[in-house]
Amino acid sequence: MKKYFITGGAGFIGSHLTRRLLAGGNKVTALDNFSTGSPDNIAPFSREENYSFFEDDVVTPEQDLALAMKDCDVIIHLAAAVGVELVVNDPMRTIKTNVAGTEHVLDAAAKYGRKRVIIASTSEVYGKSTQKLFRETDDLLIGQPIHSRWSYACSKLLDEFYLFASHQSGTVDGVTVRFFNTVGPGQTGRYGMVIPRLVKQALAGKALTVYGDGNQSRCFCHVADTARAVELLAGNPEASGKIFNIGSQNSITIMELAKKIIQHTGSSSVIELIPYEKAYQPGFEDMRRRMPDISAVSQLTGWHPEKSLDEIIDDVIGHFRNGTAEY
Ligand code: UDP
Repeated sequence: MKKYFITGGAGFIGSHLTRRLLAGGNKVTALDNFSTGSPDNIAPFSREENYSFFEDDVVTPEQDLALAMKDCDVIIHLAAAVGVELVVNDPMRTIKTNVAGTEHVLDAAAKYGRKRVIIASTSEVYGKSTQKLFRETDDLLIGQPIHSRWSYACSKLLDEFYLFASHQSGTVDGVTVRFFNTVGPGQTGRYGMVIPRLVKQALAGKALTVYGDGNQSRCFCHVADTARAVELLAGNPEASGKIFNIGSQNSITIMELAKKIIQHTGSSSVIELIPYEKAYQPGFEDMRRRMPDISAVSQLTGWHPEKSLDEIIDDVIGHFRNGTAEY
């Protein structure tokens, strides 16, 4: 049994991770400010004796974070600004949350012994890479500061630097995970994420909004697989000081994705192409493709994603239809 402290514990990934860790007999203390996380996500844990929650903000914490983390073995820092839409519309909040929040968490984590700290980073740090596979060791090329979407990548990259510096100085035992497109039941489409958005549109009989020409591709990973990878890395001493991509290698264009969603929902919706400048803002830069090299995590832990895109789509449909998706 391990004691985990999860920031962003009421968020999409945080709540799936909590479910998994509790089911494995671990203890979880979670923190969230409910900005994008929701009380519904944590409601199922309220009667679990190994679970405790407190509402607080990592940017302006009211409680003593170090004291709250004191008895924990592992800290998983997921609290962050999420979603391209939110990032594009509010880069100030993105930068503050991701930079100041991580600083507070790392400083607090360092106070009572050298603890393992996992920080959630993102495939966005690969920026404009045109590599077929994105590797943890690649050099990174991020766009200009005038394009607000890159504020997310830059702030997360700074988190990675901060974690590594803390790790090197010996204050924490740091591990970075770079999440690629992670989806599943409970994810909201409110902040841009394509699968919940398109599924909701299909179920409502509305046009599915495909941005750009729809030929951009992504690899979608089920959040249950993502949570399993995080737990494996949390318990692996050899992950110390390293960076790991977590994602699927099963690529699909967004146009094909939209067609698949129409098929799975049995919807009579049509597909509508929306120019990026209308969907986001003028000058918006999307990534044409994005696929992780996952050999680092696979070789260390044996992890591979198990759930297919069909299962992911069905789980998301199940969640929106009746809230009873299979995990
Ligand atoms: N996208 C889309 N329609 C939507 C939302 C997103 O076509 O309603 C596209 C988006 O432009 C991107 C892809 O779907 O090319 C994945 O978007 P998401 O925001 O889920 O993740 P990203 O890969 O951009 O971080």
